[in-house]
Amino acid sequence: MKKIEEYVRNIPDFPEEGIIFRDVTSVLQDAEGLHLAIDSIQDLIGDTVCDVIVGPESRGFIFGVPIAYNLKKAFVPVRKKGKLPCETIEKEYALEYGTATVEMHRDSIKPGQKVIIVDDLMATGGTIEAIVSLIEELGGKVVKIVFLMELEGLKGRNKLNGYDVESVIHYS
Ligand code: 5GP
Repeated sequence: MKKIEEYVRNIPDFPEEGIIFRDVTSVLQDAEGLHLAIDSIQDLIGDTVCDVIVGPESRGFIFGVPIAYNLKKAFVPVRKKGKLPCETIEKEYALEYGTATVEMHRDSIKPGQKVIIVDDLMATGGTIEAIVSLIEELGGKVVKIVFLMELEGLKGRNKLNGYDVESVIHYS
């Protein structure tokens, strides 16, 4: 049986020169790859107790929803600005060039709820840092953060000191 990292397609110079893009579509389009990815992320969660799985648009939805379903927990999407229809809270964060803004519905997490964040990949950690601050603004407690892939060289963990962060695949 293939290992999970063997399903990830590495695309040199995408979206710009010098970047190796770690493509998850090659994982998803293989039935065994998809199963292995979900199961591997869920293994990292283990018996961590939570109320809600939070997943960022859009690849966090792909991995977060099946895990929430398996664990019989709620799923809360984090979206790019302007997509959610009800009252939201938002957080702007820095990108390499410019900024981005993420939003959550104000009623999506209740004070005291335990939250696990699931996403496909951590690069600089900026996206997840912004999401952690939104969850905490709503009164949620982030009990774990799990990724399928982590680009260790970008030191995203430094932005998440004090949180329980785990990844299935580590790229140096
Ligand atoms: P960060 O905020 O940690 O710098 O960036 C993480 C976000 O960028 C994630 O939501 C992830 O989907 C996306 N991303 C950055 N680089 C890659 C990559 O090489 N492959 C994939 N699949 N997503 C990436």
